[in-house]
Parts: sequence; structure tokens; C-alpha cells
Amino acid sequence: DSPYGTVGEMWRAAVDEAGDRPFIHSFDASWTFAEVDDRARKLAAALGRAGVGRGDRVALYTQNDPIFVIGLVAAFELGAIAVPINPMNTARELRYQLENSGARALVTIPELHRAVAQDVVGDTAVALTVIGDHTKWSQQGEDVEVVAVRAEDGLGPDVVAAGSIFSQEPPAELAPPEVSTDDIAILTYTSGTTGKPKGAQNTHRNLVFNAESYLEITGLEPGQPVLGIAPLFHITGMVGHIMVAIRARSPIVLSHRFHPEVMLRSIRTWRPVFAVGAITALMALADSPAREDGDFDSLITIFSGGAPIAPVLADRLEEIFGAYVHNIYGMSETASPTHSVPRGQKAPVDPTSGALSVGQPIYRTRSRIVDETGEECATGSYGEILSAGPQITSGYWENPDATEQAFDGEFLRTGDVGFVDEDGWFYLVDRKKDMINASGYKVWPREVEDVLYGHPAVSEAAVVGVPDPYRGETVKAFVTLKAGHSTDADELIEHCRSNMAAYKYPRQVEIREEMPKTATGKILRRQLRE
Ligand code: ATP
Ligand code: MG
Repeated sequence: DSPYGTVGEMWRAAVDEAGDRPFIHSFDASWTFAEVDDRARKLAAALGRAGVGRGDRVALYTQNDPIFVIGLVAAFELGAIAVPINPMNTARELRYQLENSGARALVTIPELHRAVAQDVVGDTAVALTVIGDHTKWSQQGEDVEVVAVRAEDGLGPDVVAAGSIFSQEPPAELAPPEVSTDDIAILTYTSGTTGKPKGAQNTHRNLVFNAESYLEITGLEPGQPVLGIAPLFHITGMVGHIMVAIRARSPIVLSHRFHPEVMLRSIRTWRPVFAVGAITALMALADSPAREDGDFDSLITIFSGGAPIAPVLADRLEEIFGAYVHNIYGMSETASPTHSVPRGQKAPVDPTSGALSVGQPIYRTRSRIVDETGEECATGSYGEILSAGPQITSGYWENPDATEQAFDGEFLRTGDVGFVDEDGWFYLVDRKKDMINASGYKVWPREVEDVLYGHPAVSEAAVVGVPDPYRGETVKAFVTLKAGHSTDADELIEHCRSNMAAYKYPRQVEIREEMPKTATGKILRRQLRE
């Protein structure tokens, strides 16, 4: 269990023990734990003077920049709830999240302020904090240009500070907020892979527990850098980068946004040992021509999470980076991992479905597989995965209906279908919603995709059900090809036909230039279906 009750306590302990050690590396610049703390307290003081306090929502709308972390710590200093927002969001999506969360303050960066936030903030009168530019190598940019907060009368933002708040003296002492371990720490909006994003409430208990579990499964030693490859607004970046780094007293390597060459340069400069991210991002690193001119051997452990990883891709990554590549399974609602591969072990591949195991429930976590009636499934049978443990959400923000549907007692219904083998290894089959019903046969897209990944020309594959007058639904595959390779639909259909039962293989294959994806790199099957 965590020695800390709240993220604030965990942070304070890190500053006390490791204040002079680096906490953020971004391009050429570094900040120590104490420096980040100093800036966070100044920002917290400015927000506090503007009336932001315990339980108020503070939205963070930035790329993977130091200011995201500063804003997050500032929110915890105040006992406020942080609301990380996807920097790819357009004005409409940003407005939805600000309104849905009832944010009182917004921390953003100039490029997003100019392009998106200023219009939204203008008419919703939500608070605004504009921070200097972090986009360029060597640019430290820490200046706050404006701090404004939604006025009490709701009419417009009150400007509470202009110029650089970071150059102002912090208040003598910020009273530690009265926060309890079951208070909400952050609202994590789900990826929106299957519908409109929902705000999952992650409590302090959820976050400090998974900081601990990441420490356990990675074996990260103090000072060993963590690669910030996942977006910080996503639960993978929030916990798998920020929380574990605070817990381990380790630095996080930030690179503003995902760009393979820049990310590789950051790896060479800062030599991170651990990375957790989406398979699409990991493969983009592996396939970048820039990988040829440098050594990237610092990485010891790589976790792939958030989307399925075909066993052939895991092997390829392992070979390229000389690191252990593991699957990790979790969701926004579980503050990231519920299942992972125990340290030092290798996950098996299921001989029948071809899936790479996502591991076993982590400690203090229970997981069951149940059928439609809620009965426990037999070993090897497909059913919905339910999980319970200290990392499970307390519910969806202001959405009692969705919260009620999500739980079976203390068990969260994940919406994912999976099975467990005799040795207790769990496998994900697919999302319940994505099952294809072809002539009454159940086809799980992931299985077909894994077979497609086995074809040498295929770079990405996504399989969906499309309406069919005879079968009800038929299997359709979309693929992108690796550079320099060619193939056609007939050859790919034949490749699948010779590798799987007749009802499963795709009757239609469409080769595309690119796939529609979420910001976290998940392929959007629902968009392909349309
Ligand atoms: P939404 O709930 O809005 O549709 P989402 O479920 O994609 O979006 P996240 O919380 O980011 O939002 O993702 C969690 C989901 O990602 C899991 O429910 C599961 O379907 C999938 N997932 C996570 N880890 C893995 C993994 N290792 N292998 C396969 N799928 C995974
Ligand atoms: Mg989900």
C-alpha cells in the first residue's frame, strides 16, 4: 500500500527528500523538485488569491510541457481538482469539458490560447492562465502573462495577475489544504473511443496506489528517468509518467508533443530507462529513420498500453530497443493498471486466439470474467472483465446513471471481453461494443487484426463489422502499408483465409493512406464503420 494518503503528501515528501534533484527534463532545460514546487506554489498563491480553493476544478490544457506539471501541483497545493484536457481538442470539445467539469481556472500555453482557448474562455468566462512558450529546444519560458479566474457573478473573467507571477514572492506559507484520501484528485476524461468522453473521478487513493504499483512493476530506482511518451492529459501519462516519477524521485523527460525525431533526441540526451505508451507511438519511434544515427539503449522496460499489441510487434520492439516489452492493461476509470506482467516474467501468447496476455491482476486487485447473466465464466471462456481494487474510480463526474451502470457491487464493468487461462494469465479479446456478429458467429476484430499484422506489408490494421444482407454483418478490414511494401486486397484476404476459420476472415479489405485515431493513438474503429 502507499505510505501516502494524498498526492499532495507524496509530492511534499519528494520535495523534502529530493528537492535538489531533477524532476523535469524538457529539451535542454531541467527543473529540480524544489524549483517545480516553488513555481507551483506561486501559481497556487495567485489562483488562491483569485478565490480558487478546495474542490474547485482547475483545467490543464497544454501539451507535454513543464507547465502542465506545475499546474497540476498547484491544483494539489490548493486541494483543487485538476482536469487535464486533450491539447488536440477543438473549441467545441474544450467547451464541453470546461462546462461539464465546471472549471473555474484554466492553465494553458500561448499557442493553444491563441488558436482555441481565447474564444471559448471569452464566452464561458472560465479562468485563464497563459504561460510562456515551451516549444523550442533551449527555451525555458516560464512567464505567466495573464491569470484570470471566472468571476463570482459568472459574467467574465477577473484578471488577477498580469506579468510574470513566477517572479513574485510566494506567500509566507500556503496553508496545507484539508484533503482526504477519498477526495477526487483529477477528472480524467476517457478517450472517447466508443462514445463521448466521460469524466472518470480518480481519487487521491486511486493515484497514490497506482504510483506504487508502477514502482513495483517497473522496479524503477530513484533518479532513473521516465520517458514522457504518452500525453500527460491521459491517465497513462498522468500516472505512468508523473505519479511514478514523483514516487520514485525520478525525472520525467518531456518533449512538448510526440514527434519521433524529437523523442529520439530526448532519449539520447536524457537516457530514460522506462517508457509506457501506445503501440502506435512506440512503433513510430522504431520505424523512424533517425533511429539509425544514435544509440537508444538506455530503455530497459517498455510497456504498451491502451490498445492491443500484436505479439509480432512486441517481438519487433524488443529486438529494436533491446528492452523488455510488456503489455499493461488499465483504463481511465482504473487510474491505469489493473493487470500487468509480474516483474521478471514473460507474458504468454494464447495458442488459440493468438493474443498476447495482458498479465495478471496487480496486488490488492481482484478481477473476474463473467457471462451475460453475471455468472463466473469457466477457464478459457470469453466474458466481460470486472475489476475491483484500490485504483477503481469513485464514479463518473455528475453522471449517476453511467456510474450506476458501470458497477456490479464493488466491481467495475470494464466493457472489455477477455478470458483467463489455467495459470491465471488474463487475455483481452476485444471491446464488448466491437464484436461482429457474422451469420450468428461472433468475430472479435482484434484476432483478425493480429493475423493481418503477421503479413509483411501491413503496418496498421483495423477490423470492423459492416452491414451485409445475408450475414447480418460481415467482416471488413482496413489496413495501411509499410513504406516500400505493396500488396492488394485479394492477397490480404487470402492471407487471412489460410490462417483462420471461414466465418472470421475479412470479405472486404480496404488499403488506406492513414487511420483515424484518438489523441492517444488508438485507431477509431467507430469512425471506420461510418
Ligand atoms: P471510451 O471509454 O471513451 O470509449 P477508451 O475506453 O478508449 O474510451 P481509455 O480509458 O483511454 O478510454 O482506454 C481504456 C481501454 O483501452 C480499455 O477499456 C481497453 O479496451 C483498452 N486497453 C487498455 N489497455 C489495453 C491493452 N494492453 N491491450 C488492449 N486494449 C487495451
Ligand atoms: Mg472506456
